[in-house]
Amino acid sequence: MTTAHTLGYPRIGPRREMKKAVEAYWKGEIDALALETVGQDLRAAAWARQKAAGLDMVTVGDFSWYDHMLDMSAMLGAVPPRFGWSGGSVDLDTVFRMARGRAPTGAPAAACEMTKWFDTNYHYIVPELHVDQTFALSSDKLFREVEEARDLGHAVKAVIPGPLTWLWLGKCKGGDFDRLDLLTGILPVYGAILTRLADLGVGWVQMDEPALALDLPGDWRAAYDATYGMLSQTGPALLVATYFGVLDNAIDLLVDLPVAGVHVDGIRGGDDTEYLAQRVAAPKVLSVGVVDGRNVWRADLDAALARLHPLKAILGERLWVAPSCSLLHVPVTLSAEEDMDPEIRSWLAFAEEKLEEIHTLKRALDLGEAKVAEALSAARDAIASRRSSPRIHRPEVATRMGGVGEAMTRRISPHGERASKQRDWLKLPAYPTTTIGSFPQTVEIRAARRDFKAGRLAEADYIQRMKDEIALAVRKQEEVGLDVLVHGEPERNDMVEYFGEQLDGFVFSKFGWVQSYGSRCVKPPILFGDIIRSKPMTVAWSVHAQSLTAKPMKGMLTGPITVLNWSFVRDDQPRSRTCMQLALALRDEVQDLEKAGIRIIQIDEAAFREGLPLRKRDWAEYLDWTVRAFRVTASGVADTTQIHTHMCYSEFNDIIEAVADMDADVVTIETSRSDMELLDAFVDFQYPNEIGPGVYDIHSPNVPTVEHMVNLMTLAAKRIPAERLWVNPDCGLKTRGWAEVDPSLANMVAAAKELRSRNAPASL
Ligand code: GLN
Ligand code: ZN
Repeated sequence: MTTAHTLGYPRIGPRREMKKAVEAYWKGEIDALALETVGQDLRAAAWARQKAAGLDMVTVGDFSWYDHMLDMSAMLGAVPPRFGWSGGSVDLDTVFRMARGRAPTGAPAAACEMTKWFDTNYHYIVPELHVDQTFALSSDKLFREVEEARDLGHAVKAVIPGPLTWLWLGKCKGGDFDRLDLLTGILPVYGAILTRLADLGVGWVQMDEPALALDLPGDWRAAYDATYGMLSQTGPALLVATYFGVLDNAIDLLVDLPVAGVHVDGIRGGDDTEYLAQRVAAPKVLSVGVVDGRNVWRADLDAALARLHPLKAILGERLWVAPSCSLLHVPVTLSAEEDMDPEIRSWLAFAEEKLEEIHTLKRALDLGEAKVAEALSAARDAIASRRSSPRIHRPEVATRMGGVGEAMTRRISPHGERASKQRDWLKLPAYPTTTIGSFPQTVEIRAARRDFKAGRLAEADYIQRMKDEIALAVRKQEEVGLDVLVHGEPERNDMVEYFGEQLDGFVFSKFGWVQSYGSRCVKPPILFGDIIRSKPMTVAWSVHAQSLTAKPMKGMLTGPITVLNWSFVRDDQPRSRTCMQLALALRDEVQDLEKAGIRIIQIDEAAFREGLPLRKRDWAEYLDWTVRAFRVTASGVADTTQIHTHMCYSEFNDIIEAVADMDADVVTIETSRSDMELLDAFVDFQYPNEIGPGVYDIHSPNVPTVEHMVNLMTLAAKRIPAERLWVNPDCGLKTRGWAEVDPSLANMVAAAKELRSRNAPASL
């Protein structure tokens, strides 16, 4: 018998029940008991689904009210002092306070940092580590859930983040130290957890160690053997799960690890699973993830079986089948997508359908393919229809792709020449001011968009409403004295969705939500086929906005890399190819904007950095095709047209040369929170073009003072020649209210004026 299991299942529920319950609890609309009841129902339904799909055990511990890394911190008693916890059990309210930044009094306290979980769009709460930190088992949430599953009659596999991944992802606070030193303090708690699980009759515990897919330093890799040697003594059989990437130099480590089983990602890991199967000695189990947990396409079951058969021959009962990683990263179920185009729908598999795929593979291995002939042939049909569908393969796109030459990746003149031509017509003052694009998305704006989509608001009325919003934004920008204006993006719900909806090659689900962080879910567009832009997407709004002002109006686009990284992307061709198709469509939009008289165009690449591969040796290739795609998007315009890009992060040191290579005339970035730390990148590298280090932190409701912003810009001017500096917020303003934005922008403009009067660069 082959064992079938999943590394984890979506916790949000098919209708985002988790989000709704948590937010109601935060608002005080429901009490803790009612919240817990929703949790029980969600867990029971997820387990029932796994059992019904024929999995051999259900996975317990993947449910969380906010984040599983945060839950692990609670279990270890790793709660920063500002949250007022003084030992004992860490209750749910403390966990929420850590995530949301509240002291026990209800006063604001710095929230724990949140960051991306590897290269996914899921965010975890970063553990805070101190040099003298002690740890103690401080939460019984996992044990309660195990009992719950057991009481429902399930065979249970528990899951927790492994100690080395938890530590690696933590951040030293109050001075730097080697956080690996904390391992000795943590291991006894892990030991206690495993002992409790053994007492509860749990046979298998999955220890998630995705850190093994990163370039871990030698001493960290070396720590695995002793760590798991010790934890293996405590009772339950341990399955060490790796995922998201190639194991590379960790492969032998994993083979030799003194545990009962290991899991590898058979989709993203380019590792040789047959080699692994041969090396993994009995009685050790090898779990192979052959169904993609990071994407929404139906699995090619024939191909999966072709890979699994040789493994089965070597491993026999020791072969387990699973998705590549937790199904947390895909939507819950296709069953609700009744309105979706049936052909496209037939190509997809969400979490629920992926469980069925796992089960089909298990049955094919154990009972022979004849027993699952129907399921296999349905999968085969879907794959064949995707391969040949004229909706996916558009000859005109292939032709256009063939015509992409070097000339399309280059502006006419180098930046220096362009800059002087742009200066001639723009006539901007020193330290020009601008914003990043969006203005407050008020309740009224969102209601208007919703009503229009639902057919309750006529198109003409909707357009008028948006034009009024644009007029308001333009008037406010003129009043406050900004130099380069924006239209404010009231018509956009989301910077990727807005473009996806207008391009051929995308489809949208109705309920295809995935958790982004806490109660926040996103519904990524599904990019299924060749990209065609059949008509301009933004030109009319920008032209209208420009007609309202004599100041330059900046056109606003989302760049190809960001659209790619925030969508579920077709897997039948390299991502680089899909990215280039997006680039070509957006290049047309850039040119249409220029033709319509918009001579400053911003191409946002908010997700450029997060797409970086997990291992550094793969970076060069990624940077190569992404930079090329950006350049194709941006290069079809005259020297006088000024291209901006925007990126929302400040860790530039390791990619600054690639950013320079994108050759945007101006790049605006996030820096305000790190006190211009980003400028360290400019010590060794002279960034050649213009740059706007964001001085107004839009993530905070605080109004920045003139003095604060002048100070930040003065720091910036030490590293970057003043004539290349812009003054701007560090991201879009859509989440803020006008009451904060008005005074903040007034102060920002005042700061720019102050800088101009103090040290006007000689060249201007
Ligand atoms: N232009 C977008 C906006 O202002 C950029 C958003 C982002 O960088 N995340 O909203
Ligand atoms: Zn941003």
